[in-house]
Amino acid sequence: LHREIYPAGEIIFREGDSGDSAYLIEEGSVEVSVSSTQQSCIGRGELFGEIALIDQQPRTATVRALESTVLIPIPRQLVKELLEKTDPVVRHLLLTILERYRSTRSQPAFDPSQSTIFRRDTTRGVATQQLRLAHDIAEALREEQFEMFYQPICDLSSGRLAGFEALIRWHHPVEGMVSPMDFLWVAEQTGQIREIGLWTLQRACLDWPVLRTRINHHKPFVSVNLSPSQLTGDGFVGEVKTIVSDLQMPPRELKLELTETVIINNPDLALQLLSKLIEAGSTLALDDFGTGHSGLDALHRYPIGTMKIDRAFVSQMLTSPHSAKIVQASIELAHSLKMDVVAEGIESEDERLALLELGCDYGQGWLFGKPASLKNI
Ligand code: C2E
Ligand code: CA
Ligand code: CA
Ligand code: CA
Repeated sequence: LHREIYPAGEIIFREGDSGDSAYLIEEGSVEVSVSSTQQSCIGRGELFGEIALIDQQPRTATVRALESTVLIPIPRQLVKELLEKTDPVVRHLLLTILERYRSTRSQPAFDPSQSTIFRRDTTRGVATQQLRLAHDIAEALREEQFEMFYQPICDLSSGRLAGFEALIRWHHPVEGMVSPMDFLWVAEQTGQIREIGLWTLQRACLDWPVLRTRINHHKPFVSVNLSPSQLTGDGFVGEVKTIVSDLQMPPRELKLELTETVIINNPDLALQLLSKLIEAGSTLALDDFGTGHSGLDALHRYPIGTMKIDRAFVSQMLTSPHSAKIVQASIELAHSLKMDVVAEGIESEDERLALLELGCDYGQGWLFGKPASLKNI
């Protein structure tokens, strides 16, 4: 890194100058002043001029070296890409704070179109939308706008109903029914998913006695989806155990569906928590097998009893020999590891027959039934 040396008394920049770098103080100290009034003195290891990294407005203060000072300049270019990759909400908050800050100093209004970082105000649109969504999710939890839908999973050889997958639905007061794909990613980012996840688990276990009356199978189950943030806290295993025992549900009837993304951030902790759940009697299903979200690594590391072959392969197995081979190999792999297999997204009788032929154990899809509310099961 290139360094700049300033003798005592020298001005580094003045209020109103244009600037496109911040400075890190390596040696010495500087005085920061606004309208000739001293604001602060800062020294070694501290940063100043950082606002210039974010926007291209004039400097808001004057900075002078108090002694012989060595500075490391940090050009905007260096953090531009970092900022662009930052979460849009964080970027939006940063920009809002900056706008407020500048307006309290009666500087000219901040103009995002002048900023390289914020030029695309589409990101601001995304950010505000995301914030609004987070607000609406909090309200949805309070106002009980969520509902669990249940989709049948059938034993392919007998044709019997064996279990259900619980899938969340949101009845938004203005937008109507919102798909989980459209709001779970926000809840994941804000951490609200932990509360949602607990709610879904509770709801599914509460509904289980009714669901179970529809099933005539020796291994009945209800499957609940887990999200990444749920396995980061220590409390999770205890919460699951409490729900299951409070409702006097046999633990083996609760299946937890997870993708590799659930374990990837903290594989050791995840393994520890999942093993405790298995000890407590629950079973695990690896969701979306064959996609980038779940592959072989998860199979060999985790105590997984069920493999769910992703709909992408099932829906193409009759037209693409390639997909058919992948489905076949996945089933063989699962069986050789003593796992059972669910094929997802079965929409036609021909698909069902082909999967039955390949020895697939269970099937899920519109052929057997779409997800439905408890009263419509
Ligand atoms: P997933 O776990 O892979 O769930 C299967 C998705 O495929 C569901 O979409 C289901 O409605 C849909 N599906 C089932 N059969 C068919 C079929 O034959 N054809 C077609 N085209 N689609 C079919 P859904 O309910 O919109 O859920 C989407 C994703 O959202 C789920 O994918 C899951 O990753 C997530 N999700 C849903 N509910 C929850 C939940 O309660 N908790 C968590 N953590 N994630 C959930
Ligand atoms: Ca699932
Ligand atoms: Ca799936
Ligand atoms: Ca899927």
